[in-house]
Amino acid sequence: MNATYPNLLKPLDLGFTELKNRVLMGSMHTGLEDRFWNIHKFARYFAERAEGGVGLMVTGGYSPNLAGQLAPLASTMNNRATALLHRHVTGAVHEAGGKICLQLLHAGRYGYQPLIVSASATKSPISPFKARALSSKGVERQIDDFVSAAKLARFAGYDGVEVMGSEGYFINQFLCERTNKRTDKWGGSYENRMRLPVEIVRRIREAVGPEFIIIYRLSMLDLVEGGQTWDQIVTLGKAIEQAGATIINTGIGWHEARVPTIVTSVPRGGFADVTAKFYGEVEIPLCTTNRINTPEKGEEILAAGKADMVSMARPLLADSEFVRKAEQNRADEINTCIACNQACLDHAFQAKRASCLVNPRACHETELVLTVAPVARRVAVVGAGPAGLAAATTAAKRGHKVTLFEADDQIGGQFNYAKRIPGKEEFYETLRYFKRQIELLGVDLQLNTRVDSNRLASDGFDDVIIATGVKPRTPAIEGIDHPKVLGYLDVLRHNKPVGKSVAVIGAGGIGFDVSEFLTHDFEQHPEGEQVSVQAWQAEWGVNPDYEGPGGLAERQPTASPRKIYLMQRKTGKVGAGLGKTSGWVHRNSLKHRDVEMLRGCRYDRIDDDGLHITITDKDGKAAETRVLDVDHVVLCAGQEPFRELYDQIVDSGARAHLIGGADVAEELDAKRAIRQGTEVAAKL
Ligand code: FAD
Ligand code: NAP
Ligand code: SF4
Repeated sequence: MNATYPNLLKPLDLGFTELKNRVLMGSMHTGLEDRFWNIHKFARYFAERAEGGVGLMVTGGYSPNLAGQLAPLASTMNNRATALLHRHVTGAVHEAGGKICLQLLHAGRYGYQPLIVSASATKSPISPFKARALSSKGVERQIDDFVSAAKLARFAGYDGVEVMGSEGYFINQFLCERTNKRTDKWGGSYENRMRLPVEIVRRIREAVGPEFIIIYRLSMLDLVEGGQTWDQIVTLGKAIEQAGATIINTGIGWHEARVPTIVTSVPRGGFADVTAKFYGEVEIPLCTTNRINTPEKGEEILAAGKADMVSMARPLLADSEFVRKAEQNRADEINTCIACNQACLDHAFQAKRASCLVNPRACHETELVLTVAPVARRVAVVGAGPAGLAAATTAAKRGHKVTLFEADDQIGGQFNYAKRIPGKEEFYETLRYFKRQIELLGVDLQLNTRVDSNRLASDGFDDVIIATGVKPRTPAIEGIDHPKVLGYLDVLRHNKPVGKSVAVIGAGGIGFDVSEFLTHDFEQHPEGEQVSVQAWQAEWGVNPDYEGPGGLAERQPTASPRKIYLMQRKTGKVGAGLGKTSGWVHRNSLKHRDVEMLRGCRYDRIDDDGLHITITDKDGKAAETRVLDVDHVVLCAGQEPFRELYDQIVDSGARAHLIGGADVAEELDAKRAIRQGTEVAAKL
């Protein structure tokens, strides 16, 4: 028995098979599912995670038929040739000692394709297509297809299937009145509406026999108007157990819900109490989920008797060795998922292959291979921001002798300011991870050392990697030197006092983050601490007892201590460049704290009266002039590369590499910085 995580690492007996621990790697669509020629990449991706010790894994969603596809040509399990191909995946996983289930996901009206079907003819807000209502026979055909897909999964060598019954997909659409307007035996009363999932599970069990895992992902909290009530969910769960499910997994929130469920500002384990409330209603194992990203959190939840298993999806993208490190009491070496969604879910929604901001090898295991270097070189890395940290640790892992120079007294570069933003406390973890890697790999870290080209030349390095980052842009506005004007570093680095009314120039990621920072009352919610689950539920309108349709309640946002104007020159939606799956959360959060968002702004002048602006329409014509009577104007107007050192080194003839913001500041984010640092060092 593991002394630190006795509950998390305890085996789970399913009767006909045993899982080696309580960690389930939850389903994630990676994009590798969709094309048969990626099958070996897909197999390696899962094999690495099986080698890392995870108890049970679930693939991304596979539709049982064409109508249920997420998009044209998206992952489908509907013929034996496809199933045969999947033996590469199951074979690799089993060889590595793991177990894996195929997720059966029928998108229903969430499909981004014209053939979509649902309980009724409705259109979802996240697809341009309207679903066709199924006839009674049509419903039967969908069930048959689920059963065939499950049989094919067994033929492919999977240990089981997960039936996706949550997140607002097809099955969920039958369960809720908001999307099920039928009058036949599949609609009307709740008994009729829940017939579909119960029949799917019952008939799959009949077809596959007793020794095959069936996980049912139960929507325990719909978080939409017209969602299920708690009593209905319990009734369904019990019927699913009777129908033959092996495990019930928790599903939280429809995709169209206006309550965030997995972004970084959701407190850790924020939905574990939903599963806890369900605990005891069924006898089969219950798995909890959402924003569990450390072994400590998983252990705490299981030790408190809230669930039998924990599902972690993105944390296993971020670190394939998560479980192994926990087993070996090396949790401080885990590369923690910071729940940013930037390289995983945002990619999935853009039909790009998923990866991970903190681990660019994720889903690229066969391409970004870190071999031992044939010759150990002397490598200098200048700048310990995300790019430099990734380069230094990757180079050291490969056997190079690395010196990392940092001008500041701490590592992290701009991540040190990101982690101060309320709701982004997870960013501390990335710095903890790199700090530990630097110790383990013997990187010679020289803090408080602003190096110049002379120093680099005299130390005789074979390679010099310049990762000196960016400097904030100072826009040419009349009065830019006025004492009211502050840069974002004045606020986040130098802690300069900020008045009660503030104009933020620039509505990119940093403008939004600075506004979030300035609208928080740090006396109520101390810096560096995640908000409590109770406070977060009140902020976003989640019923603390999870009662009522959808488990929703009236929102009670906290008041901002300041009046904020957040501005951009573009006339399009404010914050349009933010992440696809997180931008709406940032906008919504600020809107509820009365931040005034202004677009089409021309900044005319800053003086004692405040900021003078002209608001233009989309053709650039002046529509209105305003004077914002503010105490301070905070500049968040983008950044420029800081790379003088590189130019000097190149001139001196040394072998130099330029990465991160120092390379290209435009559209730079940590995803690119870390990937570029890793890739450069992988080739040294
Ligand atoms: P930097 O982080 O700028 O690091 C450069 C380092 O080089 C610094 O530590 C500097 O001190 C050091 N240095 C410079 N010159 C020398 C020298 N001569 N000698 C020694 N050391 C030197 N990105 C995201 O992807 N997602 C986010 O959610 C996100 N949020 C953010 C929030 C805020 C408030 C801020 C400010 C940034 C955020 N970013 C985010 C951006 C992200 O932090 C940057 O893209 C990333 O830090 C760039 O990495 P870098 O290593 O290229 O540069
Ligand atoms: P950014 O996203 O490029 O935004 C810069 C903002 O400044 C824009 O709103 C731009 O809009 C404005 N601007 C540009 N030039 C200007 C000028 N000369 N005068 C006035 N305004 C000007 O850059 P950032 O906010 O500095 O963020 C840096 C990087 O960090 C970004 O790439 C971002 O992805 C990343 N980041 C991400 C997050 C996240 O949550 N994912 C959070 C923070 C940072 P207009 O041109 O319309 O005025
Ligand atoms: Fe987690 Fe961000 Fe990586 Fe996705 S990209 S797995 S959210 S750290």
